[in-house]
Amino acid sequence: MAAEAETMIRDYSWDTFTNHELVSQPRNLTDYGANTPVIGDDVYPDSMTLAWNCMENKLVQMLSEYLVRKRNEALQSRYHLLLRLLFQIESETDSRDPFPAPGDILTDPRIEALIWDTPYDKRLGDSLCKSKLLEYLPSIIDEWRPAKIQEVLEILRTGRPSATVSDLHLATSVFACSSCTVKALHYPQMFYHRCCHQRSLTSSRSDHCLDVYVPFWFTKRPLGHWMSSTLVYNDSGSQDIKKVIEACNLDPETTTVDDLHLANPLIECLSCKTHGRRHFMRWPYLPIQHMGHSFQVNSFDTEMTQILAREIPSHDRKAICCAHCHETFGLKTFELHAGVLGIDCDTLTTDLLHIRKHLYWNSRAIVPGSSRPFVYVKA
Ligand SMILES: [Zn+2]
Ligand SMILES: [Zn+2]
Ligand SMILES: [Zn+2]
Repeated sequence: MAAEAETMIRDYSWDTFTNHELVSQPRNLTDYGANTPVIGDDVYPDSMTLAWNCMENKLVQMLSEYLVRKRNEALQSRYHLLLRLLFQIESETDSRDPFPAPGDILTDPRIEALIWDTPYDKRLGDSLCKSKLLEYLPSIIDEWRPAKIQEVLEILRTGRPSATVSDLHLATSVFACSSCTVKALHYPQMFYHRCCHQRSLTSSRSDHCLDVYVPFWFTKRPLGHWMSSTLVYNDSGSQDIKKVIEACNLDPETTTVDDLHLANPLIECLSCKTHGRRHFMRWPYLPIQHMGHSFQVNSFDTEMTQILAREIPSHDRKAICCAHCHETFGLKTFELHAGVLGIDCDTLTTDLLHIRKHLYWNSRAIVPGSSRPFVYVKA
């Protein structure tokens, strides 16, 4: 129906209406109650009125549907454009600082006014939308970030009542998601964890907003608000990490996630050893796959060289970020980037401490680490 109305409007001519099937019928148009005006001595049927009376109800319905469809198309293209620009801006920011979810930004009253109050026939261009996002984002983030960090801190305090914001960075501050199987999330990984991102939007315009936003619900990434409701403090994961830190001769009270990445301890799960097959991993995998198992760290004596020869380097091209441009890299590709920046490093994997100020681990990566778990069997 709306498509028919669109055709009639685009190809408008008088014949479009008078020849429409609702008008051009065997019945006499006057049967529909049209006026028959008298001009001079001649009687002319008021054909416009006749046509209108025949079509009024259906035409009004068609035009209403047409207008709703055109409005929704305009709104959806604006949401689409803003989301694309938002992802681009987000990818250029420092992932160590929590970034609001799309729904937290798109429901800002100023952004909603841009989307909903600009006349629907006016096209919003990339540069206007980007400048508006860049103008509004700082104040959105200033309000959103401290509130959400406080929510995460309150969850940490369920296990450690005296914790402060700086404790969120500790390697022993381990969280789990109650909605999926992820048992280890460190700050600020939870801000990029899928289950914490909702699909729906709630706003002052929610009735219309939900209708228009529906097509975006089925994208890979949920585009609603960030919520902490599925997060819990993982005490046993924290105890496992504490043992790893102590095995590295570090202090669990002060060792941060970055410190542990730099120490990069090698761990063997003793519980999973079967028929001479020994399971090794770097620390980020311990609470994920071997929580509550017994393990040993870094003490493999004469076999260390043979064990390390079996290690599988991570090919995650988003494992680390450049601290200068925030672009993501794999460990190998960052060596090249470091060279371009004039950073002096030979082999990144053995030189991490030296260049730590030039990189950081990407909290947006699923499991940031230098290698994947592997099995070693003595030859
Ligand atoms: Zn989850
Ligand atoms: Zn295990
Ligand atoms: Zn860079």
